Amino acid sequence: MANQEDKFKKVISHAKEYGYVFQSSEIYDGLSAVYDYAQNGVELKNNIRDYWWKAMVQMHDNIVGLDTAIFMHPTTWKASGHVDAFSDPLIDNKDSKKRYRADVLIEDYCAKIETKINKEVNKAAKRFGDAFNKDEFISTNPRVVAYQEKINAILSRMAKSLEDEDLADVKALIEELEIADPLSGSKNWTDVKQFNLMFGTKLGASAETAMDLYLRPETAQGIFVNFSNVQKTGRMKIPFGIAQTGKAFRNEIVARQFIFRMREFEQMEMQFFVKPGTQAEWYEKWKEDRLKWHLSLGMGAENYRFHDHEKLAHYADAASDIEFKFPFGFKELEGIHSRTDFDLKAHEEFSGKKLQYFDHEENKSYVPYVVETSIGLDRMFLAVFSHSLVEEELENGTTRTVLKLPAVLAPTKAAILPLVKKDGLPEIAHNIVEDLKWDFNVAYDEKDAVGRRYRRQDAAGTPFCITVDHDTLDDNTVTIRHRDTMEQQRVKIEDLRDIIKQEVDVKTWLMRML
Ligand code: ATP
Repeated sequence: MANQEDKFKKVISHAKEYGYVFQSSEIYDGLSAVYDYAQNGVELKNNIRDYWWKAMVQMHDNIVGLDTAIFMHPTTWKASGHVDAFSDPLIDNKDSKKRYRADVLIEDYCAKIETKINKEVNKAAKRFGDAFNKDEFISTNPRVVAYQEKINAILSRMAKSLEDEDLADVKALIEELEIADPLSGSKNWTDVKQFNLMFGTKLGASAETAMDLYLRPETAQGIFVNFSNVQKTGRMKIPFGIAQTGKAFRNEIVARQFIFRMREFEQMEMQFFVKPGTQAEWYEKWKEDRLKWHLSLGMGAENYRFHDHEKLAHYADAASDIEFKFPFGFKELEGIHSRTDFDLKAHEEFSGKKLQYFDHEENKSYVPYVVETSIGLDRMFLAVFSHSLVEEELENGTTRTVLKLPAVLAPTKAAILPLVKKDGLPEIAHNIVEDLKWDFNVAYDEKDAVGRRYRRQDAAGTPFCITVDHDTLDDNTVTIRHRDTMEQQRVKIEDLRDIIKQEVDVKTWLMRML
């Protein structure tokens, strides 16, 4: 645990030190759970967004993009259910005065039991060696089976109580399990209450005429209310999708863990409209495709898992999360939801406008069903950044800090370094920068010894360093050093573009999805 915490602290301090993420309004001591992306962070974030957009929009001839306003007519949020149901169950500890999400306290309790299961599994794996069959052990070992049954019983009781809005039972469950405030150890709890997560604001100048608005808590509704506009003007045929990326706002109660849970964040969402009755197939297809997108980045299949939901949101008939192994454990990175026809029907009802599709093959109109893929851009940023940050022991006994970002996402693709600041080497390096900058983000760096400059670029995540030395003057060759292997090659200046392109090209990476 301490190790995990240390690793996470390093992630946060590295993000600041290397110009990735700053606390918002830091000079005023910051604003809780609000962050700014710095000079490298904005590039990484843009690259992740592009990588998603290319995979979802550019590569699908039946998916188009959209960019809707953050402000929406307030009835949108009545129709979507957010005014009535977009809330978290809250509980306060009377002694510490700290506020928690009741469901998270219970889930954390279950996670502790899961740690015990993992310990049993690891012990048995050691004992049995090669003969160990993990699945069989988990399903037959009495202690593990009992732990698992306990987890299942707790989670299904919580799911039922939340669904029935029986908040007294959620509190009873916390008390029965003797869950204590993680900070103070106190078990002196208030009742559980619902707390709406939407931020309100006002549109208009005078108090009497101003209209109460919400900052959108998800981008999806902008897609639903435009369903007919896009379908008709784009002459879209079902099945088809509409994708958008943009800011969303939630007044999160427990907003810790850096950019994992923010109050202002960015989503990348795609709503896929299908014929009623085919949603289950499309749900499976999108689960599979979205996982492939993640795996194409090469961050290790073992770091992802699906978590199918027991408790479904009011609009869904199936839902699953793609969880990623963050420094603080497996947590939701993306949601894939089968949203039925809930949203379009609700908007039809509240607006009095038809949101239907005329199916020429069937010769009838219907409200399409929807399968949604929804990923937090900031959370994806944290997944990529935290996974990439490694401390490496080198053969000579020293360590190096290296940010092994997938090259396609790296903010700067190459740093051009003159070995010394004289003899015409800086001029050649500048010329290389001038030439490559048409295709890639590149940087020039002449300060400090070249070894230090390599380390600085390693820590900033730059996949290539290109060094201009005295031999360059004679033969127009330079040294290109690869960040991850530290291997160095002598290559012609004219070949640099192709060498870099091969490693950073979106196409090369996305092809891995096929
Ligand atoms: P959680 O259970 O973590 O609160 P959620 O299930 O409410 O998330 P969704 O409404 O499904 O999340 O939103 C889709 C995606 O948006 C999530 O998978 C996550 O990546 C991202 N996301 C949601 N809330 C936040 C937040 N407060 N900060 C950053 N990203 C978020």
